[in-house]
Amino acid sequence: MSRALATIQTIKSISPIPGADLIVLAEFQSIYWQCVMKKSEAQTGSKVVYFEIDSLLDAGNPIFSFMADRKYRIKTIKLRGQISQGLAIPLNQFEGIKDGEDGTDLTEVLKITKYVPPEELACEGGSSNSFKEFPSFIYKTDEPRAQTLTNLETILATQDLKVTIKLDGTSATYYHFQEEFGICSRKLKFGENTIQNKNNVHFFEMAARYDIENRLKTLGRNVAIQGEIIGPRINGNRLKIATYGFYVFTGQDLLKGKRMTPGELDELIKELNEIKSDGIPLVQVPSLGKLTPGTLKSYGDLLELSKGDFGLSKELREGIVCRNDNLSFKVINPEYLLKHKI
Ligand code: ATP
Ligand code: MN
Ligand code: MN
Repeated sequence: MSRALATIQTIKSISPIPGADLIVLAEFQSIYWQCVMKKSEAQTGSKVVYFEIDSLLDAGNPIFSFMADRKYRIKTIKLRGQISQGLAIPLNQFEGIKDGEDGTDLTEVLKITKYVPPEELACEGGSSNSFKEFPSFIYKTDEPRAQTLTNLETILATQDLKVTIKLDGTSATYYHFQEEFGICSRKLKFGENTIQNKNNVHFFEMAARYDIENRLKTLGRNVAIQGEIIGPRINGNRLKIATYGFYVFTGQDLLKGKRMTPGELDELIKELNEIKSDGIPLVQVPSLGKLTPGTLKSYGDLLELSKGDFGLSKELREGIVCRNDNLSFKVINPEYLLKHKI
């Protein structure tokens, strides 16, 4: 399912912003995002269309013309000391859009697309380089955001969660399926004839350094391991890390067609590392340990935990990922988005 970037939402509350007459801070009933709105347009209980950060608005729609000088891109911004993550426009300003319940997805109708950073495009290496489609039997790596979980407070009150640090590099998938070994970037699979270049060489270097092909083949199971490659030149190297590394965050059982639980992933990595090999041992993303039920109460508490450093370097952390056997979600540190203007 692709991301719902534009949805109908109801304003839950409005708070004044010290020193500002024309704008207010709006919060919503069904999501944890907050954003700045024009005071004249914001009314508690009224409906808006809410555009999440990363939205690329439709340049052909005059309603968005005020965003032209910002290239129609919705980013995290700080206005008068308030973090604003999105854009809210009263629903009644959109002609021909019917009212609907909170969460109604208008992304397609309003021709909203997701902004993809140029680095991410470069990493996939262009069209000419012998890419194949991402295997249909593997889930692509992706995490829902805490802001859009409706039952977040219940989850925090009742469930154990393993918290890991979210690394900001590039996603890599290595798999063994029906005797075949494969290497994939976030969205594509590398073909046999892929020419290695500076934009993709790290996928192959990591496979060699951790001896992944041999390990997966020796294990002989139909599995995928997915992780983040970080290091110089990758995605701006915001960790400022000097050497490349591959940090596993997910395992998939390709026969069951399921993501592994954190426990099953621990077991898989242990077994892979027990295999006699020339490679260095596989490692997982840094962990902040387990949250027991009730330790944190709210989205705000999670936001606090999202702050800090990467663990692997002293740079400001992108955020965290929380998981247990049933669910998985990310909490992005807004300060990080502001710092890097993303
Ligand atoms: P969105 O879907 O919200 O637009 P996005 O598609 O750019 O965002 P990210 O914000 O990068 O995705 O979040 C998901 C990605 O986070 C995964 O695909 C994975 O590559 C990466 N990631 C980094 N560290 C971790 C971790 N500790 N656990 C899980 N995923 C992680
Ligand atoms: Mn995503
Ligand atoms: Mn990322």
